[in-house]
Amino acid sequence: MSSGTASSGRAVRLFDAHCHLQDHRIFRVAPKLIRTALDSGVLRFAVNGVSEKDWKLVKEMGDHYPSVIPCFGLHPWYVSERSPNWLKSMREFFNATPSAAVGEVGLDKGSRGKEINFLEQVDVFRQQLELAKELERPVSIHCVRAYGDLLEIMQSAGPFPAGVILHSYLGSAEMVPGLAKLGAYFSFSGYLMSLKSQKAKKMLKLVPADRILLESDAPDALPKSNLGTLQWVEGDDSVPQELRNHGENTIPNANLPSDNEHHATDASTFPKETLNHPVNIHCVLKYVASLLEMPEEEVAELSYRNTMRLFSYPGSKVCGEG
Ligand SMILES: [Zn+2]
Repeated sequence: MSSGTASSGRAVRLFDAHCHLQDHRIFRVAPKLIRTALDSGVLRFAVNGVSEKDWKLVKEMGDHYPSVIPCFGLHPWYVSERSPNWLKSMREFFNATPSAAVGEVGLDKGSRGKEINFLEQVDVFRQQLELAKELERPVSIHCVRAYGDLLEIMQSAGPFPAGVILHSYLGSAEMVPGLAKLGAYFSFSGYLMSLKSQKAKKMLKLVPADRILLESDAPDALPKSNLGTLQWVEGDDSVPQELRNHGENTIPNANLPSDNEHHATDASTFPKETLNHPVNIHCVLKYVASLLEMPEEEVAELSYRNTMRLFSYPGSKVCGEG
């Protein structure tokens, strides 16, 4: 199976519920990133397109790698660049790709999202939610400072029996039950470490066990962790020189490094733009397991099964697998 291990030394398998391996910042090294992550026990990757420009690449990655689940979506940051035919073109991608899910879509009132007309964001978001419902596929949702709007829209457009993924969930504990009732899964990335740990813990403990997912969101969301070890992307100029000299192949295992000097144990001093490697999902696992006070193996298996179930729609690559 896999050589991924938890702190206890036992093997784990993980499903990266949300990442962007087609992103131009890492596409060149994607084959290597995938190989390293697979070797560490990350067996599947839901690769999310964000704009019309990258859907073709996402489709090609899905066609090429059995481990890649392609997802097509128009992210709120790219709403103003959309062509008049964006929805028609998206439908064509779905027709040609029975294994695809929907994402990344969403709402953003954060510093970057504020630049994009919110009414247009809502319009594009709603149309993609409708499409996901029609296709009976899960949909990966980005939400920044717009949880009130999100809940309202999900209530009027929902429920979502095929599931929605609230990716990099950082909403409040209070919103969890209402969102869960509408079909939401809660996916956690390295951004969880930006919340106060008490707040994150309170929220996590309210998430139903069958709705917990883990993701890397690579190349974004580098965990700001001093738990475990992080791996960086080869060629990333933002990584301090002394670390960069050691290529990713020097690391035998994401969680059990044989040689600590090659690893950053605390990324909080790294520049904001430092790229995230999908294998760092192991650090997210470690952090989530510590907050839930559960063994890592248990959280890994739970989230793996949850993600497999969610992505087991007709036509999916994982349909019928355990
Ligand atoms: Zn994303």
